[in-house]
Amino acid sequence: MTDQPTLGFDTLQIHAGARPDPATGARQIPIYQTTAYVFRDADHAAKLFNLQEVGYIYSRLTNPTVAALQERIATLEGGAGGVCCSSGHAAQLMALFPLMGPGKNIVASSRLYGGTITQFSQTIKRFGWSATFVDIDDADAVAAAINDDTRAIFCETIANPGGHIADIDGLAAIADAAGIPLIVDNTTATPYLCNPIAHGATLVVHSTTKYLTGNGTVTGGCVVDSGKFDWSQNDKFPSLSQPEPAYHGMTFAEVFGPLAFTFHGIAIGLRDLGMTMNPQAAHYTLMGIETLSLRMERHVENAGKIATWLENDPRIDYVTYAGLDSSPYSKLVPKICPKGAGALFTIAVKGGYDACIKLVDSLEIFSHVANLGDARSLIIHSASTTHRQLSPEQQEAAGAGPNIVRLSIGIENVEDLIADLDQALTKATA
Ligand SMILES: *Cc1c(COP(=O)(O)O)cnc(C)c1O
Repeated sequence: MTDQPTLGFDTLQIHAGARPDPATGARQIPIYQTTAYVFRDADHAAKLFNLQEVGYIYSRLTNPTVAALQERIATLEGGAGGVCCSSGHAAQLMALFPLMGPGKNIVASSRLYGGTITQFSQTIKRFGWSATFVDIDDADAVAAAINDDTRAIFCETIANPGGHIADIDGLAAIADAAGIPLIVDNTTATPYLCNPIAHGATLVVHSTTKYLTGNGTVTGGCVVDSGKFDWSQNDKFPSLSQPEPAYHGMTFAEVFGPLAFTFHGIAIGLRDLGMTMNPQAAHYTLMGIETLSLRMERHVENAGKIATWLENDPRIDYVTYAGLDSSPYSKLVPKICPKGAGALFTIAVKGGYDACIKLVDSLEIFSHVANLGDARSLIIHSASTTHRQLSPEQQEAAGAGPNIVRLSIGIENVEDLIADLDQALTKATA
């Protein structure tokens, strides 16, 4: 089946990128557990290495199982192409790599996954890159943070951990005016709840580790390119708009048009950085995506009921779920994620740090883990774990203060989840 965008989401999540195996007719996508592929002859090999013909050379660059997943995620996101990688963090570096160089910076939301804040504030400095963190609700602050060396704006659709929603359209307009791409981490929304490209994003990154796989089995990531950004509109993106010495002076934007970023990601990014997804991981994620819409509907339904119950509980100070009318972000839900505000949010527990620790230790169905987007319900005390490396000010800015726990609501029976929270809150606040 070809991937016609007229098909519905539920059809595409099963069929996009999947064709009966040409060799055997196998209906399910085989796990192509191979490192290399035999060339037809020396001329075929030369054409593949010159990027004159598209095909399989070596699984660090391309693999048919991984390619099926790339096509499926790109289709669900409404993008031109996708590149899978070994983790969500790898996808972030793969998204930035073609854009950046020594002395260049990104303007990033101050509310991001803790690991991303560390990657952007510490590790990328080793490459001579930097990040300026801003409150993305303040459009003037975002615009003011952009300078001549800025190469992208970066945000999360539904911010981890607080569940705050980004006004993607507004940020895309700021990025457009500056001639730079908007990169959106869509991990917590998934393409079922939001398509950032439809709101003007240029690049979408995913940790496929989370909802896309949906069962906490494998790590993975993906970068999806909209194919709509003109890399030659200014001189900011020479990797894409200027001749590439490693490919005989070929210019990616000229030769590959809307697929320039995707081909660069494979031919340079995966080839030289090597952050490749393995075919086993791609298989698990393909299996997970087949039920994405069904799971997300239940995740959202359960999250809404639990957030409402918690908001009315005297042991809780406040709940950050954007699906609640009380949330300042509730007005963005119909625009950015009309099918629901996801299933990730934080609660402020009366009793502070100690009560939070007791809560996570007293839960029986919820697991205390550094993960989210699993079929099972998860909880974490961010300040003592994922956001531990951050300063108290950074923790507050990220919505991860000492009195806060993050919930990732699963797809179990909601009454069992509420009963579990109830008994654990009793112990925590006794
Ligand atoms: C988990 C996560 C990441 C990092 O992904 P990994 O697969 O763990 O490398 C990035 N962004 C968000 C929003 C995440 O939740």
